[in-house]
Amino acid sequence: MKITKLRLANLPTPIKKSRFLSTELGINLYIKRDDYTGIEISGNKIRKLEYVFKKVLDSGFNGVITTGGIQSNHCRATVAAATSLGLKSIVLLKVAEAPKIEGNFFLDNLFGAQIRYCTPEEYRTSRNQLMQDIASQESKMGNNYFVIPEGASFGIGSMGYFEAMEEIVRQEEELGITFDTIVVATGSGGTYSGLYLANKYHKLNKRIIGFAVCDDSEYFVKQIDGINRESLEYLDKEVDISREDIEINDKYKGIGYALSRPEELEFIKLIASKEALLLDPVYTGKAMYGLYNEAKAGNLKDAGNILFIHTGGLFGLFPKQDQFVF
Ligand SMILES: *Cc1c(COP(=O)(O)O)cnc(C)c1O
Repeated sequence: MKITKLRLANLPTPIKKSRFLSTELGINLYIKRDDYTGIEISGNKIRKLEYVFKKVLDSGFNGVITTGGIQSNHCRATVAAATSLGLKSIVLLKVAEAPKIEGNFFLDNLFGAQIRYCTPEEYRTSRNQLMQDIASQESKMGNNYFVIPEGASFGIGSMGYFEAMEEIVRQEEELGITFDTIVVATGSGGTYSGLYLANKYHKLNKRIIGFAVCDDSEYFVKQIDGINRESLEYLDKEVDISREDIEINDKYKGIGYALSRPEELEFIKLIASKEALLLDPVYTGKAMYGLYNEAKAGNLKDAGNILFIHTGGLFGLFPKQDQFVF
């Protein structure tokens, strides 16, 4: 890799076997706890942000602007990291109605971010332009903001999961286990992209399954392929990439981004009550529900040892607590 990073996350994150799910499904399921990367910065985004903030500091920016949904884990982790580094932050949040101050949005406020809003329509069509506009307004006031795209899913950010795959390989040696299949939730594609590139770069021949939490597999294959291409400039040798072997399962996205079906919440309850594992309703809950159903249907018989990457999202659980039935 041609770029370096800051050290912000607690790494390496542990890998533990899932007792209940392994027995229940008759598979060997391990979980990599990227929900343990920190508290304020918890989850997968901080691995990407370690590379992004290195660039931000080296290039002399004094703040960052990023964007996401109202309960975005990425925005919260970005704001926390920026504040801890003495940088300013602005988050452009997608809102349909006046938001309740709770969960990640509460933390954005607590960590001192400047909050801006856009409609779902503006978010879809022009979020990057809106962030650029904010950056240019700020530059007139002497501020120098770096714009981080949604989910930090771009070339630099994807290096965080390139490195995470190398971490997994070291842990395989320590644990004496080979993980044949890696499973991860996919929301903006950067996590999948980093894993994919390292898999190719090091010729690991692992199967990587991304469970989409919104949109469809065609959309993500295109997104991920685009991020892969951006990332190539940070690698020091040629990597043979293709769209053909990007595997996205879009059967479990349910009724839309950050929206929950009762069966998904029941599943989160089941896993919490059987093995004290907290899944979040937006990402890991859907991805693990997908893995569970695919295994039940007999579709993971050839998957070997499976490693599910728990990408975090805990703070998104609390704003949903009223939707759970006990
Ligand atoms: C953002 C996020 C993901 C998805 O990662 P992408 O790189 O955006 O695909 C998965 N889980 C959680 C908890 C997240 O916050």
